[in-house]
Amino acid sequence: MSTKLIVGNWKLNGGLSANQALLDGLRDGLGAVRCRAAVCVPHPYLAQVQLLLAGSPIVLGAQDVSAHTAGAYTGEVSASMLRDFGVRYCIVGHSERRQYHGESDELVALKAKQALAHGITPIVCVGESLAQREAGQTEAVVKRQLAAVIHENGHCISEIVVAYEPIWAVGTGITASPEQAQQVHAVLRAQIKAATAHAERVAILYGGSMNAANASDLLAQPDVDGGLIGGAALKAADFLTILRAAS
Ligand code: PEP
Repeated sequence: MSTKLIVGNWKLNGGLSANQALLDGLRDGLGAVRCRAAVCVPHPYLAQVQLLLAGSPIVLGAQDVSAHTAGAYTGEVSASMLRDFGVRYCIVGHSERRQYHGESDELVALKAKQALAHGITPIVCVGESLAQREAGQTEAVVKRQLAAVIHENGHCISEIVVAYEPIWAVGTGITASPEQAQQVHAVLRAQIKAATAHAERVAILYGGSMNAANASDLLAQPDVDGGLIGGAALKAADFLTILRAAS
């Protein structure tokens, strides 16, 4: 995977005027950017951001998708609805959804399946808690999380993106060291290689307090194919610095 992929996760942030200002700021600085880029926005802003990104190299993403196609699932948003707004990527299994909404490995795998069935690339998040890391369970946890997705989507597993996001690093200001990230990415790479002959197509992103200051070192690791960025994606100057570091 030579061209890096940088994805902004806006989480529960934004508003009509704030989105416009952020995307205006990004547009003005995109000249030197050569990597692939996406922003995953809250569902109500998909239509607005789709319009604002018209003609931009940044593509549109969502932060979640239903595991169901249609029907009596109040509050859910289906993959075909996301597709109607030109969504190209969708985060599934973010640690905040696993933690606060009780999403299981199996549910995450079904969400990835819905995205894939509608031509949307799922960004499958995996990562261990601090307690699990300290107990020496990091490898087992991320492999178990990814195995569920491989089990459900084996035939098209080369179409996914994986994001390694240690929970202790997400939104905390604490970043995995480049060596820690590389070590887990290599484990995930080996697992993907065992599942598909096209493993080289699968980007493995690092996420967890990646910012303008640490992005270059993390992105220099051989198995770090890009980044999933939360807080630093909300400031145009910081996100642009990361995009440049990946270019
Ligand atoms: C994320 O939300 O996926 C994330 C990595 O957040 P942050 O960059 O703020 O740690």
